[in-house]
Amino acid sequence: MSSSRIADHVRNIPRSGIRDFFEIVQSMKDVISLGIGEPDFVTPWHIREAAVYSLEKGKTGYTSNLGSPRLRRSIAAYVEKHFSVSYNPHDEIIVTVGVSEAIDLALRALLNPGDEVLYHEPCYVSYGPSIRLAGGVPVPVATRGEDEFSLRAADLEKALTKKTRVLMLNFPTNPTGAVMPLEELKKVAAFAAKHDLVVLTDEIYSELTYDELPHHSIAALPGMKERTVFLHGFSKAFAMTGWRIGYACGPADIIEAMMKIHQYSMLCAPIMAQEAAVEALERGTRSMERMREEYRLRRNFIVSSLNEAGIPCHLPKGAFYVFPDIRGTGLTSREFSLKLLETKNVAVVPGTAFGTCGEGYVRCSYATAMDQIKIAVERIADFVKK
Ligand code: PLP
Repeated sequence: MSSSRIADHVRNIPRSGIRDFFEIVQSMKDVISLGIGEPDFVTPWHIREAAVYSLEKGKTGYTSNLGSPRLRRSIAAYVEKHFSVSYNPHDEIIVTVGVSEAIDLALRALLNPGDEVLYHEPCYVSYGPSIRLAGGVPVPVATRGEDEFSLRAADLEKALTKKTRVLMLNFPTNPTGAVMPLEELKKVAAFAAKHDLVVLTDEIYSELTYDELPHHSIAALPGMKERTVFLHGFSKAFAMTGWRIGYACGPADIIEAMMKIHQYSMLCAPIMAQEAAVEALERGTRSMERMREEYRLRRNFIVSSLNEAGIPCHLPKGAFYVFPDIRGTGLTSREFSLKLLETKNVAVVPGTAFGTCGEGYVRCSYATAMDQIKIAVERIADFVKK
């Protein structure tokens, strides 16, 4: 059948590099996967129970388009406590179907056709395509291994044009685990203010920073709240990927514009997921900390094992990914990943799935049980030796 019936802007969007790779993985038996960016933990029981209770009480209907008032109040309190920014739950917060929907809504609400969006690469696979689907032009800014993939504010200046409207940030970063030192984050904020950009800050991994490192949100820096949309959710820190729940906080005019798109496309996020989310925010900190401690141990183990095996790997400060440098093997990221899969049944993701500057690196997720990680790194060491 002719593909011309598919709209051009959709036909020209590439499929996710991760998806393609995992179709190969799924066709194989007994693969140890360090590929998926999804917690191996089940959502803590007290959070699941909150959803069960809500069903028992017959809460099965729609909520307000913006999300249940109770959840929005919880979000306001949580964000104020952990990120030092206060938002009015009445009109500055919207509950979405994952951070994924929040990204899409924000871009669609902000971009006119041809507007340019700056973002740092390597980055989460959805950023470029989401910008294009919203009619914008993606302008990736490369980050470097020697900076542990943190962003240099000076590099943003070079990519700026008259059409730049939005700056997207994601710290800690998927796929590199990068964080931003506060001093550099201040320079990025000054850059956004100087050029009158709106900042979309995806802080979905913000609870997952290690070694007592404080997380700083750009939204909390002086003068930034007015030009920032803060995106967060439950998938990673609370192991709630399947619940599909996230949120955006920002200036009332932008939240209102996002709500208009959301009310016609999604209507609202599922009510039982919203009930569970309240429990996660109000009583989930201990459960989150237990998972974070386990991630920290796995991170330390995987980083030291890869370095011992002769694969340089920096110690990422956040998220649950390591991004080792495989250039010493003489293979490209894709060749390395495919050969490792074929010969050792271990799945990692080529760094190029996250942008061209990911060449020479692969992403390994340590949201995988420790016994599996141990076998996987032994096999990787053996693969590299050969
Ligand atoms: N943002 C980043 C940086 C991610 O890594 C992911 C998932 O991997 C998402 C957003 C999607 O999150 P959600 O499950 O809340 O839609």
